[in-house]
Amino acid sequence: MQKGNISVQTENIFPIIKQFLYSDQEIFLRELVSNAVDATMKLKTLASKGEFKGELGDLTIDVILEENTLTIKDHGIGMTSDEVLKYLNQVAFSSAQEFLDKYKDDASVIGNFGLGFYSSFMVADKVEVTTKSYKRAKAVTWACSGDPEYTLDDAKKKDRGTEVKLHISDESKEYLEQNRIQELLDKYCKFLPIEIRFGTKTETTWEGEGDDRKSIENEVDNIINNTKPLWKRRPNNIKEEQYKEFYNELYPLSQAPMFWIHLNIDFPFHLTGILYFPKMSNNFELQKNKIQLYSNQVYVTDEVKEIVPEFLTMLHGVIDSPDIPLNVSRSYLQSDANVKKITGYITKKVADKLYSLFKKDREKYQEKWGDLGVFVKYGMISEEKFYDKALKFALMKNTEDEFFTADEYKEKIKSLQTDKHDKLIALYTHEPKEHHSYLQSAKDKGYDVLIMDTVLDNHFMQHFEHKMGDITFVRIDSDTVDNLVQKDEKVESVLSEKEEEKVKGIFENIISKAGGSLQMKALSPEDQPIQITKPEFMRRMKEMQALQGMGSDMFPDSFNVVVNTNHPLIAGKLLKTKTDERREALAKYLYDLALLNQNMLKGEDLSKFVGRSLEFLN
Ligand code: ADP
Repeated sequence: MQKGNISVQTENIFPIIKQFLYSDQEIFLRELVSNAVDATMKLKTLASKGEFKGELGDLTIDVILEENTLTIKDHGIGMTSDEVLKYLNQVAFSSAQEFLDKYKDDASVIGNFGLGFYSSFMVADKVEVTTKSYKRAKAVTWACSGDPEYTLDDAKKKDRGTEVKLHISDESKEYLEQNRIQELLDKYCKFLPIEIRFGTKTETTWEGEGDDRKSIENEVDNIINNTKPLWKRRPNNIKEEQYKEFYNELYPLSQAPMFWIHLNIDFPFHLTGILYFPKMSNNFELQKNKIQLYSNQVYVTDEVKEIVPEFLTMLHGVIDSPDIPLNVSRSYLQSDANVKKITGYITKKVADKLYSLFKKDREKYQEKWGDLGVFVKYGMISEEKFYDKALKFALMKNTEDEFFTADEYKEKIKSLQTDKHDKLIALYTHEPKEHHSYLQSAKDKGYDVLIMDTVLDNHFMQHFEHKMGDITFVRIDSDTVDNLVQKDEKVESVLSEKEEEKVKGIFENIISKAGGSLQMKALSPEDQPIQITKPEFMRRMKEMQALQGMGSDMFPDSFNVVVNTNHPLIAGKLLKTKTDERREALAKYLYDLALLNQNMLKGEDLSKFVGRSLEFLN
């Protein structure tokens, strides 16, 4: 037997391992199983090059639970006693130490990669490694009890490969539970490239017909992984169904995705994966952050914020790249050149895919716009590069259910909706039903009206105006229809200045109480006698504020009351009414009607209005 100390200059790093890594303890299993997979893959490579000529045999890796131990057993290349000393004492130890020194303040990194074999000491009092190399060499057992002392003994092991046996510590008993291990294997090892067996499971099959039908229970190997996940295969010969099945495998019980992108790139970095566009639900926060990151089929994390642009975190699926540096801190990751390239590549792929869908079958694309819109708009607001590409396939929908790209829409509204400053005025509503009368007036003028009704539209319009420079969005209730698109035409008032003053006086009384501001305007006699409008700028500020959770009180609910001095009810009837009292009653009635039209007449005011109307009819 050989005894020794792992390192001379060491203070004991085992307590440090336990202390700092507590939160990420469970990764030990991933580390050990990936080592077993690596050793097996290496053997397969040697065999394919003719450097290993023996029988490969069954290469399945076993994870075995016994009373107080958990064992990971492979049939890979194994280690000679020299290699054990070199790899486990020196390489593994020093890299673990270096890693801890560097990252003990940044526990978030540790979960990713780096600690390797030594992470087994997070959960074990004692670790025994029994191994036999594929080279002609004796089998040995290396053992260490969580202090710098180790032992190295001859072993009886006959078959090639390595067995790592963990004597699980009292505090870590959970890793002796079948369900817990199964859960960890499902999480971290589900797509590893070598089969992993965790005991057996019972499979039920049915035989016979009718009354003779009976179930047969078979004990079969419990293979926990799919060694050839879809993203690793060539896209050319994968069928649509397979993509959907794989989605289901990743997210059981989810609705089928709309479409997907198969990523496959070798240069200047390696990256494979499948990104799915899920059906958007209203709560898209819930759908975010579901992309899983793998490194050579080993699960790393589902926190990919630093690797894909924020708007793409709404997508689902898998990204697999050995070129993403995982044992670095998050802030470093964002500035890493490879990661930047990867981000750019994924963004481009997504844009290309959307454009090709748009070009191939515009009808179908439009049908999906309800689900896609939020995503595309979010991307345009947050990613400059995406914005430029998306201009070709981002759509706007009008109240007639027609869809337009930005260029198409500009062309459509150019003749009627260009104002005196040569700006295009794009009119919109967030609620066609509520805005019915405004919509009608706009349509009567031949204007087109867009529907902007998603949470992002305010931001989107703001951004779009800023980027375009020659277009302004104006909600149809923000001014009287003649003023929505400001031109130089002026309608003459039929009232004399004195009469106008008189009308103004009547309304001022009523409106000053409600907090609106009064405007007298000579509009077409066919327009409404009184209109309530909400100035675009103030309204937007208020909405933005509400969206950012600042409450909407900072900006008062401002609105204008526009009196149409050319309307017969104003210019004629109101002025001819005899007593002050009756004049005021009529004015108030007209004002209430305008409020009603904007859905602003509520509560007591509404009840009073109904009461007065009934009196009127009597
Ligand atoms: P890493 O895997 O990152 O190199 P580890 O600390 O996990 O670091 O392992 C150190 C070394 O020990 C490995 O590089 C490998 O050479 C050797 N090793 C670990 N596990 C096995 C195994 N199951 N079979 C053969 N060699 C192994």
